[in-house]
Amino acid sequence: MKTIIEPFKIKSVEPIYFNTKEERKEILEKAHYNPFRIHADDVLIDLLTDSGTSAMSSNQWAGIMQGDESYAGSPSFFHFEQSVKEVTGFPIVIPTHQGRAAEKILFSILGGKGKYFVSNTLFDTTRANIEFSGAEGIDCLCEEGKHPTVPAAFKGNMDIEALRRVIKEKGAANIPMVIMTVTNNSGGGQPVSMQNIKEASAICKENNIPFFIDACRFAENSYFIKLREEGYANKSVTEIAAELFSYADGCTMSAKKDSFANIGGFLAMHDLDLAIRCRNLLIITEGFTTYGGLAGRDLEAIAIGLKEVMDEHYLQYRIRSIEYLTNKLIAAGVPVMQPAGGHAVYIDAKEFLLHIPVEQYPGQALVCALYEEGGIRSVEIGSLMFGKYDEAGKLIPAQMELVRLAIPRRVYTQSHIDYVAEVIIEVFAKRSTLKGLEIIEETPLLRHFTAKLKPL
Ligand SMILES: *Cc1c(COP(=O)(O)O)cnc(C)c1O
Repeated sequence: MKTIIEPFKIKSVEPIYFNTKEERKEILEKAHYNPFRIHADDVLIDLLTDSGTSAMSSNQWAGIMQGDESYAGSPSFFHFEQSVKEVTGFPIVIPTHQGRAAEKILFSILGGKGKYFVSNTLFDTTRANIEFSGAEGIDCLCEEGKHPTVPAAFKGNMDIEALRRVIKEKGAANIPMVIMTVTNNSGGGQPVSMQNIKEASAICKENNIPFFIDACRFAENSYFIKLREEGYANKSVTEIAAELFSYADGCTMSAKKDSFANIGGFLAMHDLDLAIRCRNLLIITEGFTTYGGLAGRDLEAIAIGLKEVMDEHYLQYRIRSIEYLTNKLIAAGVPVMQPAGGHAVYIDAKEFLLHIPVEQYPGQALVCALYEEGGIRSVEIGSLMFGKYDEAGKLIPAQMELVRLAIPRRVYTQSHIDYVAEVIIEVFAKRSTLKGLEIIEETPLLRHFTAKLKPL
């Protein structure tokens, strides 16, 4: 097989500002060993997130120029609405300024004390919005999904028996919604099978529970179904996505992922009563129903991006580029989550840095080393992000100590990714020289964004 090439040509470029290792040492010190505090122009390859960081196409930029900024009834809204309807099949479309705004509206209405939302894995903003309403979130991830280095085709699946059990325990009347996250972002960007979606949907129907899709990476998930699930090899991704949405009552979406937009999101659904309540909240928080916190030009970019993302040459390249980096690291003996997910590579930092105990944040130590060595920005998904303290002030560590390298869509070329692999492998070779960190300042909530640390 020949090399899978980037399915685009480059018309406009942005410079990377090079700096030296000595300079990066100083930058890191000034940022208190927390790359969230580093200025982005001090970063060579930014793999902090794939959210809102996509390169837009010439068609999307043309759409930006055609955006109509009318307060009410903008043609850009109708273009957006049409595109969402065509892709998802849901007749009611409500724009929001990003995914969490859609969540905030939905869970403010359906949530509250004594309610439970069940999912394969809730994304952190989704869980936060559920909990903020007073309700609880319950993750029912399948067993395969809990073992990072054991490969399986659909590690993002929901545990169907656990879903049945939770419905029985909590009572269907106390479960306002079941939410399937595709791909399963917090579970390593792993896909969910059509079979699993179908089964979860059927159980929800039996119990009269609305079934929603958290659709941020619906195209990547649909492509995995095409590659891995029996009976889908000859279907188009457009058909697969349509089938996936057909089992649901609605969806929430962040257009910052699988729509190539830099901002935006939406809610879509069948239920008109629910939609009326959502729109009432939309107007006081986001804006009028035909723009929902977005400029007309953003609505155009999303309308176009939502169709573009299902191009199968693009998806082949997208999924392959994550797999390419994953395989290079596996070949060098670097411990990574397997198989490759849809949008990011996850390094197992506990395995990588066996000599650094979890109390000294091995994930963050690795994040800092990757920046210092090669100017690569990644993010710790471990005890700095999710750790808590017990009553004695001792760290209760997270389940895993991971470092995520999220790949922005259409932004970096194969040589950028080769460079990333080289830097990681170089750090791996001298891993025994890396040191742990301690926190010197932190906030009570979401501390990883602002915490200050220092090397031990
Ligand atoms: C990013 C994301 C969200 C939230 O979307 P924002 O646009 O960042 O507010 C919700 N769910 C999943 C799975 C996501 O990846």
